[in-house]
Amino acid sequence: MLKSYYKSLNNVKIDKILDYLDNLYPNYENFLNFNNNFELLVAVILSAQTTDQRVNSVTKQLFARYGTPKDLSLANYDDVYNIIKPLGLAKSKAKNIILMSNELLTNFNGDVPSDFNDLLKLSGVGRKTANVVRAVGFKIPSMPVDTHVHRVAIRLGFATKDDTLLDVENKLLKSIPKDRLIKAHHQFILFGRNICLARNPHCNICLLKELCKEYEHRRRNSDKTK
Ligand code: SF4
Repeated sequence: MLKSYYKSLNNVKIDKILDYLDNLYPNYENFLNFNNNFELLVAVILSAQTTDQRVNSVTKQLFARYGTPKDLSLANYDDVYNIIKPLGLAKSKAKNIILMSNELLTNFNGDVPSDFNDLLKLSGVGRKTANVVRAVGFKIPSMPVDTHVHRVAIRLGFATKDDTLLDVENKLLKSIPKDRLIKAHHQFILFGRNICLARNPHCNICLLKELCKEYEHRRRNSDKTK
């Protein structure tokens, strides 16, 4: 069912979805606090499996003490660990950001690279982190897929339930015009956090119902139980 719907997700429907999101979220701010691409990269590594608010609550202190790749490469592990402890996975995150800072100095002259494959060579950097740094830091059209983007993309028919994260990324890259990608990424996240929630989406206030297979599925199920 979803597969055939994906085929029918034509440009008119895509525009309708993106226009609706533009209307809902005309402006957006970055979710993480940072002053430069190094801080952005550190903050995104720290954001794994925690909230952006939590990351922002520790990075002020972290960046005040270790604001450059050189500072962080020379940092005392225990000190870094203690600062970021509230985030969870602090042992590996502390290790990764110190290692990553060393790698930036050794391999990239202390600069955060914009090349996707170069970013992937850094400790603690996976596909999503690299895409966020490219989109947010370098304004290169990219589509990082997190849990919200993944869910919203499937519900709205950009992808199917069987798709991997990489499939979803590729389908979104194919479907969404390049000049709308970076904004759409932020909007999908906001929409997933505020309206299209995982368990109880607020379909009653959502104007994408007619395009949404999830809505149709939920409505049919509730009709059956009446
Ligand atoms: S109708 Fe409901 S499930 Fe569908 S996109 Fe809107 S909020 Fe999400």
